[in-house]
Amino acid sequence: MKRSHYDVVVIGGGLAGLSAAARLAHHGKKVALVERGKLGGRAMTIKLKGFQFNFGAHAIYARDKSYLTQMEKEMNLDITWEDYQQLHSRYDMGEETTVIPSSLGGLLQTKLLKGADKFRFAYHILFTTLGFEKGDPELSIQEWIELNKISPAVRDMMLNLANSNFFAGDARQIPSDVFFSYYRRLFKTNIPVSFIQGGWQVLINEFKRTIQDNNGDIFDKTKITDLETDGKTVHSAFAKRHQFNADEFIFAIPPEQLQKLFTDTHLNKEFRKYTDYESTFVMFYDVGLKKRIETEYTYVFDKDRQIFITDISYYDLLAAPPGGQLLQAVAYLRPDQVNDTEAHEAIIEKFEAFYDKHFPGWRKELVIPRASKKPVLQAIRWNMHHHGLPTHFEQMPNIHFAGDWTKAKGQLSELSFSSSYDCTQRILKLNSVIKQTT
Ligand SMILES: Cc1cc2nc3c(=O)[nH]c(=O)nc-3n(C[C@H](O)[C@H](O)[C@H](O)COP(=O)(O)OP(=O)(O)OC[C@H]3O[C@@H](n4cnc5c(N)ncnc54)[C@H](O)[C@@H]3O)c2cc1C
Repeated sequence: MKRSHYDVVVIGGGLAGLSAAARLAHHGKKVALVERGKLGGRAMTIKLKGFQFNFGAHAIYARDKSYLTQMEKEMNLDITWEDYQQLHSRYDMGEETTVIPSSLGGLLQTKLLKGADKFRFAYHILFTTLGFEKGDPELSIQEWIELNKISPAVRDMMLNLANSNFFAGDARQIPSDVFFSYYRRLFKTNIPVSFIQGGWQVLINEFKRTIQDNNGDIFDKTKITDLETDGKTVHSAFAKRHQFNADEFIFAIPPEQLQKLFTDTHLNKEFRKYTDYESTFVMFYDVGLKKRIETEYTYVFDKDRQIFITDISYYDLLAAPPGGQLLQAVAYLRPDQVNDTEAHEAIIEKFEAFYDKHFPGWRKELVIPRASKKPVLQAIRWNMHHHGLPTHFEQMPNIHFAGDWTKAKGQLSELSFSSSYDCTQRILKLNSVIKQTT
């Protein structure tokens, strides 16, 4: 068996592990990144018939306030962004569409709120942005709304926004403190949504380049199956033919995997608490068209059916061949729909009807459809009973945890990036090796 020693071994090569390994390597740490499959994990870009299908919309929320942007600047990542235009996003109200009021401009234009309710909602935005509205971890947003006697129109608006932005399926169950901390960030941003030109693959390549340019080693198709630990410190991680020794370890793998690896340690019991969560499942249906179908909007959300379409190629110019268009329809799945093939077929029919309504003529231009039945959008579906895994336990000081199942900041990939930032910051502070931003 081959043996190697590193300053830090990062296990799991999704966005969390990749960004952690890249940041540590950039700051001079000797790192190894070990991934059991392909780099990127749940973030991937697949090229088919000239279209670039991303596993998910690769939309980055509030990038001006994001950890990804902080890392992009720090490591000089070569990323080209295209920012989403808020006034191009609509709610489908049946007979007509209206602007989504996720900014002051949107609030003035939307038909969803009228008269005094516009002022009431603006008041909530202001209070949330200033940090006065904090919520309560013991109250769901539904309970908070009832307790604070929020008017029905404003209540509907808050829940609709959460449904279209929060990736929880049933927004009412979101803990109110999580709800407000998320919105504080969203209302403060100047760039609510952005897309990376070229999709997730560009970001994966940039992290990979940073690791390799800084003498880091990447091992893909290498699964970690065992650990050597004295109960307090992890000394080694084992793959089939390789023993990785290190001073520090970052585990960027899901809690179920952690539980298996830490079977003989006292942390195994701790991990069990965090494996008991429901994931947020979605279903999506992308269509690659040979000719663009122009509409006034680039994102449309049907709040009754809980489905939305994004014109991906409007933002990611590399997503479709010249003159073509890549559209993506997404639906949140209720727990009872996740393994129900009839429900999946019914959702595909709904998607097609929604495309017919908003992008008439799409069937004639269709080059390639791609449906995905039940990918995990986010490891954790936020509700009152779920707790994110801490990024560190005092009992085992040389191990750290990152991924979108952790108790970190943001939603979706921002959870992966913020937890990876947190872990790497702790490790770098151990010997104060943080380089100045170039
Ligand atoms: C359909 C869909 C749409 C999405 N849309 C968006 C979006 O628009 N915006 C956004 O920000 N996010 C989006 N996301 C979420 C985003 O993709 C995830 O938050 C992010 O990719 C999670 O990265 P991660 O590193 O935390 O976890 P993962 O990607 O799950 O990485 C974990 C890695 O660990 C590896 N691993 C596990 N066990 C071992 C082991 N024993 N040894 C070695 N390796 C191991 C796995 O193979 C995997 O690569 C979407 C996701 C999906 C599925």
